[in-house]
Amino acid sequence: MRQLIAGNWKMNGESGALSTLLEIRKGIEAKTPVADVLVCPPATLLARARQVVADAFALGGQDCHPEPNGAYTGDISAEMLRDSGATSVIVGHSERRRYHSESSALVAAKARGAWRAGLTAIICVGETELERNAGSAREVCSRHIGQSIPKAANADNTIVAYEPVWAIGTGRTPTLAEIGEMHAYIRKCLAQLLRDDAEGIRILYGGSVTPANSIEILALENVGGVLVGGASLKAAQFLEILSHALAR
Ligand code: PEP
Repeated sequence: MRQLIAGNWKMNGESGALSTLLEIRKGIEAKTPVADVLVCPPATLLARARQVVADAFALGGQDCHPEPNGAYTGDISAEMLRDSGATSVIVGHSERRRYHSESSALVAAKARGAWRAGLTAIICVGETELERNAGSAREVCSRHIGQSIPKAANADNTIVAYEPVWAIGTGRTPTLAEIGEMHAYIRKCLAQLLRDDAEGIRILYGGSVTPANSIEILALENVGGVLVGGASLKAAQFLEILSHALAR
């Protein structure tokens, strides 16, 4: 299972940020990575990003509407993302769940929308700090998995990202033991839900990943890569994280 190093730019990046993608492309062309690479810029940059990236690495969306088109002002469908150059889309990011009150049922509908358009769904799960302190991190993730991941998920159409909410953008991360434990647990939940189809589904870790901590995180068993927010906005940092990926 090849690891995936994925960048989530969130609501950051105007035309000038295309130079960051060019830098990442140059870094990848200079040294062929052992991992798959994906950057999810804002949707407004996707079409131009496609020209800049020229297949050196993959591009993705950060969210999509479940429907292919219709009267949904301001929304973007998976088909539109695909048409603009995306091959995957993040769904259920905690910022969507929190600021847009997205339910797991909606996340599952978005994942199905992604598949309909031929995109890989990167489905995010993870507990808040309150939930972790209450000892319910496993229970929350298992609920997110059961309700956000449709039964037709498999390694070809789905990637799962474990993103503890309290670690996103805070500079704090779980211990390596905690990450390892949660990834093993998520793998078990996926096997229970999807049986043989769970085989090979990549589980990414996300939350304050940096060049420094990525060495040990990427070396953990069951870590199929990382979803990187802040550090993906700097080409040098993103490329350094990529250099820590392991050939698996
Ligand atoms: C994210 O947005 O998915 C994320 C992990 O952000 P950061 O790396 O900045 O914590």
